[in-house]
Amino acid sequence: MAADSILLRDSDTHPRILTEPSVFRVNQTGYAAGLPVHVAVAESNAVTLRNAQGRLLREWALAQTSPDAASGDCVTLLDLGLLPEGTYTLESGGERRGITVRQQPWKAVAAALVKGLYYQRCGCALEKKHAGVYARPACHTAAAADWQDRTVRRKVTGGWHDAGDYGKYTGPGAVTAAHLLYAWKLFPRGCSDALNIPETGNNVPDILNEARYELEWLLQMQRTDGAFHHKLTKARFAPFIMPQEDREEEYLMPVSHCATGAACACLALGSRVYRAFDEAFANRMLLSALRAWKWLEANREFVPFRNPEGIRTGQYGDRSDSDERFWAACELLAATGDERFRQAAEELYAEGQCLTHFGWADVGGMGGLCCLFDLQEKAGDILYSQLREDFLLQSEKALAFSRASGYGTALPPDGYVWGSILPIMGNAMAMILNERLTGRQDMQASALLQWHYALGMNALDTCFVTGFGERRVMHPHHRPSGADGIEEPVPGLVSGGPNKLFPYPGTREILGEETPPARYFLDETPSADTNEIAIYWNSPAIFTAAYFQMLSQEKKRNIMITCTLGKKKIHG
Ligand SMILES: [Zn+2]
Repeated sequence: MAADSILLRDSDTHPRILTEPSVFRVNQTGYAAGLPVHVAVAESNAVTLRNAQGRLLREWALAQTSPDAASGDCVTLLDLGLLPEGTYTLESGGERRGITVRQQPWKAVAAALVKGLYYQRCGCALEKKHAGVYARPACHTAAAADWQDRTVRRKVTGGWHDAGDYGKYTGPGAVTAAHLLYAWKLFPRGCSDALNIPETGNNVPDILNEARYELEWLLQMQRTDGAFHHKLTKARFAPFIMPQEDREEEYLMPVSHCATGAACACLALGSRVYRAFDEAFANRMLLSALRAWKWLEANREFVPFRNPEGIRTGQYGDRSDSDERFWAACELLAATGDERFRQAAEELYAEGQCLTHFGWADVGGMGGLCCLFDLQEKAGDILYSQLREDFLLQSEKALAFSRASGYGTALPPDGYVWGSILPIMGNAMAMILNERLTGRQDMQASALLQWHYALGMNALDTCFVTGFGERRVMHPHHRPSGADGIEEPVPGLVSGGPNKLFPYPGTREILGEETPPARYFLDETPSADTNEIAIYWNSPAIFTAAYFQMLSQEKKRNIMITCTLGKKKIHG
């Protein structure tokens, strides 16, 4: 079916949904003036590009290429170069598709990704003035029982619902909050300060306001001896009901090394970030982080977390806590300057850290981020010079994956795991950080392809952020979206995307063995394996969004400077 030329509108008016995939795979939220425009074309006919007046700007004669291994598509990645602001029409084989180029195309989606976390808030009512049609009463406000001693009950409220379920998990929550803090530290101008959340206008950046909602919960998850409970969940997942209707007993599950390490790192980072805004809060976080470190020191033998008998909620198990300890030591060194943390960080670095992984399971990259961008030369030879070289080398892999993919996606064909958006956005982060260190434009351009992937330039012709795009995810595995009776899912949430490595039997029944990995996706509510949302998939997208939102602002300024200089020339 030929798709008509489409003009994108802002998310609040929700553009209509195209039912058939187009041969053109584009960033459905638009492109930035001043940054390279890439589209993918999944056929071999000639392609034309016309402006809004219908004038032919360029023409490409596409040759048949070999199929992209991850998708099976014969796809060509077209570089349209830099385009001035406007609307354009691509045409191939009688099919047309519109794209828009604007000065700040991603302002709305960047803000929505953070606001998406607001909609995940637990323990408070979402009021109509902030949440609109998604308003709801407070949920999960009762005291929780300690799983190991049910006579002990403690009120632990707040935080974000982790994903499509209503559980709250310490490690994933800490990593998510840390992504937000680093997005703000590195790209403050890329972070919206008008999210319309309850704290908006309090002289604290909104991204920090939102992160604090999680940090306040995190602080409550600490046991008196310094260790952190692994999670706060019920015995099993709730059915598809609204959170305020989910009233079964919640439990504080046993403590774990990984939860304690990740919380320690995140709170030490938080203590630095919030010091300028609220010293008492910063001190609370630092004291908590120091107590967590003390527990880690006294409990050196790693014990992996396993769900206790009878517990069926997310396990978030891990094979090692070396990366969590490494990240924690780096953040504590940055927070205190104490030499013992340098020694610990150097020893843990020597154990071998993956510096391009930023997800909940492997946080080595977060420690690296702290050394390279916060501590910098203060980190010393090993943790700065040597680690920098190590990081630059490791991040080449992300670029190599991108170059080997027909869509430019930084993931090998066998990398489509549960939540494949996480390694893809993680590789975008790695390439962004590489560009920040080296100024390499190839890294920046490839990171941009990952952003385009998330927003529709993929084999599925699907925008993975709810509320955005003309072919967008409509049925995420997300309990409020499934239970609220509203057609559009809660906006600003990121779907995990294709997963061929660990699909449900039901998904395998529908998609079979032949469907290629990058197409192993069902936009259906039961498909948690391909279409769940998670706070820690939003957060690397938030980091990436903040960077490109900042860049598009810089480009806008450059364009304005160029225009002004041009005028001066003409008139001078
Ligand atoms: Zn809740």
